[in-house]
Amino acid sequence: MSKPNKKKTRQYAVEFLKFGFIPDEHDERKPFCLLCNQTMSNESMKAGRLEAHLKVRHPNNSNLDLEYFKSLKEKFKNRTKLTSLFHAKQAPHTRALEASDEISLLIAKHGKNHTIGEQLIKPAISIFLKTVLQKDDGDIRTMPLSNNTVSNRIDEMGQDVESQLIEKLKLRKFSLQMDESTIRDSEALLLTYVRYIDHEEFQEEMLFCESFETTTTANDIYIKTNIIWMQTKYQRKTYWHVRQTVHLP
Ligand SMILES: [Zn+2]
Repeated sequence: MSKPNKKKTRQYAVEFLKFGFIPDEHDERKPFCLLCNQTMSNESMKAGRLEAHLKVRHPNNSNLDLEYFKSLKEKFKNRTKLTSLFHAKQAPHTRALEASDEISLLIAKHGKNHTIGEQLIKPAISIFLKTVLQKDDGDIRTMPLSNNTVSNRIDEMGQDVESQLIEKLKLRKFSLQMDESTIRDSEALLLTYVRYIDHEEFQEEMLFCESFETTTTANDIYIKTNIIWMQTKYQRKTYWHVRQTVHLP
């Protein structure tokens, strides 16, 4: 009698960290590379494959010790997640801040003026608390939702998303797509999108949107992109990848 042909599932082992791998957050049976943030298949846990990935894909990091990967793992676990802005606050005195974050996001989503928080939303919640629930509206009065608070919160959320994207791009090859578009008053914009592979799937994100001061020639596009590159402190390595993949008209 033959045994049923059962596919073997490999388990992540702690010693894989010395090659820069931790278990993937979404599927612990898959190793996740801390250097390029890619999730590998369960198959790749076969002896030697993770080590080979480190040596071939990250030759400059292949002689690093376990301590380095331990600190990289800590850094990765402590990274600011967009979700942590909403969920990490459990203490009662921070609930008002959590609400403020979510309301700020709501204001941004609907493209409303930031003053609406203080002028309309807070008084409306107060009325509801006092008349329907017959509760004190003290928490609402102390909830920060001024014009500045809302725009700061929106900026923080935007920066968090941007810095996560930039960190990803530093470790990957990616392609750029540039589109030039004209809006009201003949203002010309340069829209730049990046395409890269994340968790074995293609991802597309907008990298930046900037307006042109004068003309929109290929040279203007090149100069504009170069300036953004310097401002976002991209690594030189990334810059060279980009030079290879951009095809200017
Ligand atoms: Zn890797």
